[in-house]
Amino acid sequence: MTSKILALKYRPQKFSEVKGQEHIVNTLKIAIAENSLPHSIIFSGIRGTGKTTLARLVAKRLNCENPVNGEICDVCNNCLAIKNGKHLDVLEIDGASYTGIDNIREIIEASQYKAVMGKYRVFIIDEAHMLSKNAFNALLKNLEEPADHVCYILATTELHKIPDTILSRCMRCQMSMFSVEELVSTQKELLDKENIAYDESSLFDIAYAADGSMRDAQTLLNQILLLSHGKLTKETTSNILGLGQRQDLYTLLEYLLCGEVEPSLVQFQKITKQGILGHMLLSQLMDLIYWLCCIKSTPTLKLEKSYPDLERVKGSMLADQIGLPKLHMVWQILQKGYQEYMSSPLKGPTLEMVLMRLCFIQDLKFDLVATNTQIEEPKQWKSWDVLLRHIRQHKEPVLYEQLAKTYNCISYQQGNLILSGPDNKTLVSEIINKLNQLTGISWRVTIKNGDGTSSTAPHNDPQTSLPQTTDPELPDVVADLAQTFPDMVVTVNA
Ligand SMILES: [Zn+2]
Repeated sequence: MTSKILALKYRPQKFSEVKGQEHIVNTLKIAIAENSLPHSIIFSGIRGTGKTTLARLVAKRLNCENPVNGEICDVCNNCLAIKNGKHLDVLEIDGASYTGIDNIREIIEASQYKAVMGKYRVFIIDEAHMLSKNAFNALLKNLEEPADHVCYILATTELHKIPDTILSRCMRCQMSMFSVEELVSTQKELLDKENIAYDESSLFDIAYAADGSMRDAQTLLNQILLLSHGKLTKETTSNILGLGQRQDLYTLLEYLLCGEVEPSLVQFQKITKQGILGHMLLSQLMDLIYWLCCIKSTPTLKLEKSYPDLERVKGSMLADQIGLPKLHMVWQILQKGYQEYMSSPLKGPTLEMVLMRLCFIQDLKFDLVATNTQIEEPKQWKSWDVLLRHIRQHKEPVLYEQLAKTYNCISYQQGNLILSGPDNKTLVSEIINKLNQLTGISWRVTIKNGDGTSSTAPHNDPQTSLPQTTDPELPDVVADLAQTFPDMVVTVNA
């Protein structure tokens, strides 16, 4: 009963009842009023946006005996017959079941006869993209030279599969996806009319899961109402939508990002027991990572009420603890892991290996801790090694390579370096500049060569930076750079 109440009882029967597609409705109303509606129309859009409903409304309006200000009366014989699916002049064909040329020939033959009950013979071809090539060719001839009393309405979820020759002869109507707010307000309206109690946050959860489709939202709502005995409760909504599972996924991701191998595997076992398949698990983890990236790049999403509380609260918490580069790294591992999983003969172990790989990403754990404790900056660089580690941690690969590979340290004192290596003044000046900027103190660098000669570079002002120059030494270190910092792209200008 409930499914009938929501899916059928409140199906729009007039143009004014159509929600979210005002741009199309207005165009259709004007075109019909001015008697300039094309004989072929195509409605395209994702599932559940009201393509077939709108096609029926056009059929109604064309045949309505008493339209008022361009609106359907919904009480005349034609309107009632179309509403009940008994109109002799309105024929609905499922393109998925009747794909052949013979089925189209029947339509063509039927279109030769004048309308019996109303003014127009209307042929609604649902899932039109499923028609065969020959069927489209046969239809094309009729679309080119349609009889005055005929209107063809095609509906499709895959517009790109419709031949251009057909498209160019149709009035195209692209249906909009429903926003979360539109889905919520429509459901509220239905529930209020039916005097059904509801939990408002559950409506947002349903709308979010429906992903722009009104039908999906209504189907989910029906299902939840059936299971919760006519009330929309948080608990049943959570069970039907699998929000508990989503919570478990967040927990798994948290363990993975913290590098906790054993808890990760235990959590993974818990999730697989719920019946989720390996490739689904990986794709859902990717979906979570994508969501974290969205929050990081658009922080206002945390405040968007249209997203479920779980996504906003848990997602924000995790997003705050991890950097965008690391998230991209995790994404790549999951993407690659997905391909490995799909082609592997050992599905279970492959999946566990992918998860373990995520746990062992170097620096990930550091990254999580780092955002909590705001990286403890060393105030002192007591030794050459400490200085090099500091440079490496701050992702200065070029400076690291210049110091660690090109030069040897003969004497170290904070702020005063004696190195052996090429006496290239430009290079030394560049090193000093970078060291000054990175450490915030002033450095002196002396180059001592094998022949006993030495040159001392002056202190550079930490605030000034040298113009970039082409360094003849640089190409020699590029190969080593790639090994030391595999995730970085090094470009050498000629
Ligand atoms: Zn009517």
